[in-house]
Amino acid sequence: MTISLTTLAGERAELSPEDLQAFKAGFRGPVLAPGDPAYDDTRQIWNAMIDRRPGLIVRCTGSVDVLQAMRFARQHRLLLSVRGGGHHIAGLAVCDGGLMIDLSPMRGVWVDAAQRIAHAQAGCTLADVDRETQQHGLAAVLGFVSQTGIAGLTVGGGFGYLTRRHGWTCDNLVSMEVVTADAQLVRASADENADLFWALRGGSGNFGIVTSFEYRLHPVGPEILGGAIAWHGDDTLQVLDAYREFSARAPRELTSVAVLRTAPPAPWLPKAVHGQPIAAIFVCHTGAIDAGEALLAPLRALGQPVADIVTRRPYTQMQALLDATQPKGRRYYWKSHYLPQVSRPLAETVAAHARRAVSPHSAILLFQIGGALNELPLAHSPAGNRDAAYVLNIAGSWEKPQDDAANMAWARECFEATRAHSTGGTYVNFLTEDDGAERVDAAYGADNLARLAALKRRFDPDNVFRHTKSVLR
Ligand SMILES: Cc1cc2nc3c(=O)[nH]c(=O)nc-3n(C[C@H](O)[C@H](O)[C@H](O)COP(=O)(O)OP(=O)(O)OC[C@H]3O[C@@H](n4cnc5c(N)ncnc54)[C@H](O)[C@@H]3O)c2cc1C
Repeated sequence: MTISLTTLAGERAELSPEDLQAFKAGFRGPVLAPGDPAYDDTRQIWNAMIDRRPGLIVRCTGSVDVLQAMRFARQHRLLLSVRGGGHHIAGLAVCDGGLMIDLSPMRGVWVDAAQRIAHAQAGCTLADVDRETQQHGLAAVLGFVSQTGIAGLTVGGGFGYLTRRHGWTCDNLVSMEVVTADAQLVRASADENADLFWALRGGSGNFGIVTSFEYRLHPVGPEILGGAIAWHGDDTLQVLDAYREFSARAPRELTSVAVLRTAPPAPWLPKAVHGQPIAAIFVCHTGAIDAGEALLAPLRALGQPVADIVTRRPYTQMQALLDATQPKGRRYYWKSHYLPQVSRPLAETVAAHARRAVSPHSAILLFQIGGALNELPLAHSPAGNRDAAYVLNIAGSWEKPQDDAANMAWARECFEATRAHSTGGTYVNFLTEDDGAERVDAAYGADNLARLAALKRRFDPDNVFRHTKSVLR
C-alpha cells in the first residue's frame, strides 16, 4: 500500500511499499499508519481539543530508532512532530499528515546514587523518574503532575516543588543526548556542543530531538511533609491574604500552590462541599519534618478549613496529588502569566473570576517558584524569566466541544484582567495553540530570543523542527 505524507513544503509525498519496507528494516519499534488498530490511541494526547492525524507514527524504542526516523524524515523532506509525554496543551506532539516521532516507549531510567545523577530516556513521565530516584532518597527537579512527560517539560524550562531550592528543571541538566536536524547523534553539555546545550535549556523543541537527559539529583525524602488544606470559597480573599504572607516568608524547602475552583468529588473533601467553591493550598516541605510542622501550623489554624490532609507522606505520593484533576481526554485551554508577587488587587481579580468559571473542572492556580531560579543571570538559559516569583495559570477544563467558546472566553477574560500584574513574561510550556509570536516573545524576552533565532538558523537551517512554538523572527 502506498502511504501519503505531508512534506515540509506542504505538498504530498507518496511513499511506495518498498520505501516503507526499507525504513522498517532499520527500525525496531512499531510503525503505525491510519487504519492500524493502535493508530488512534497513539495519536490521541492529553488535550482532547487536539484531533490531528499524522500520516505515519513511528514508535521509537531507543536512540537509534530516533536517528533512523530522522534520516527517513530528511530523505523524504517530511513534516514531523516529536512526542515525549504528549502533554503540551497546544498539541505540538502531533502533526497533521506528517511523521509523528513518538518517544513515549523509551522509559528507561538509570541512577548513579553516588554521583547523584540520573539518566532518563526522553519518553519518561515524571513518575518514572521519581520512582527510580526516590529509591535512593534522591529527586530531580520536575513538575506537579506525575503523568507529564519529562522531555517537553525539560526543554521548555520546567518547575515543580523543588524549583524554589534548585531552579528550573533545565538549570539542573548535566547533559543531553540529541538527534540533530541533520540526523547526527550528539552529546550536548557545558563542554560539548555548548551552544546546542544552551538552546535546549528552554528553547523547547526547536533544536533537536533529545533521546535522554542527564539530571543532577538532590536529596529529598523519601518521606516529606505535604498535602493540602481547603477552605470554603467564601473565605477565598482571607486565604489568599494568608497565602501572600505565608509564601513570601517561607523558606525554600517549602513550596505552596493556591488553587481556586469548584470542589471535585474527591475523597479528601467532605461530601457537603462537593460542587461548592473552594480555595485550597497544596504544600510540600522537603526539609526536616518537625521544622515543616512548625512552619505550617499557622496556615492550618487559619479560619475554618473544610479539609486538611497535610501529613508525612512519600514524596512520590505528593508528586501525584494533583493527578486526578488533570485526566487525559478532557478539553483544556490555559492562559498564564509569571508574577512578581500575589498582590491584594490580583487576589481580588482572580477570586472574582474563579467564581465565574463556566466549568466545575476549571481552576485558577498560583504556583510559588521564587528562589534559586532568581539567582542566575538572565542569559544563563533561554528558560530565563529570572524575575518570576509565581506562575498564574488560568486553567479551563471541560468535557463537551459545544462548551469550547464559553470556557475559552472565561480564561481569556481572566488573563486580560490580570495582565497588569504580570512580570510581562510567560511560560512557553503553557502556551496554547492560538498563542502566537507575541506570547513566545514574552516567554523569552528580546535578548534570549535573538540568540535563539540565530542558533536556530545554525542548527536547523531548514526549520525541520517547526511543529513547535517558533523562535524564528
Ligand atoms: C496536566 C499538566 C500539568 C503540567 N504541570 C507542569 C508543571 O508542574 N511544571 C511544568 O514545568 N510544566 C508543567 N506542564 C507543562 C509541561 O511542561 C508541557 O506540557 C510539556 O510540553 C510536557 O512535556 P511532554 O513531553 O509531555 O510534551 P509533548 O506534548 O510530548 O511535547 C511537547 C513539545 O516538546 C518538544 N519535545 C517533546 N519531546 C522532545 C524531545 N525528546 N526532544 C526535544 N523536544 C521534545 C516538542 O517540541 C514537542 O512538540 C504541565 C502540563 C500538563 C498537561
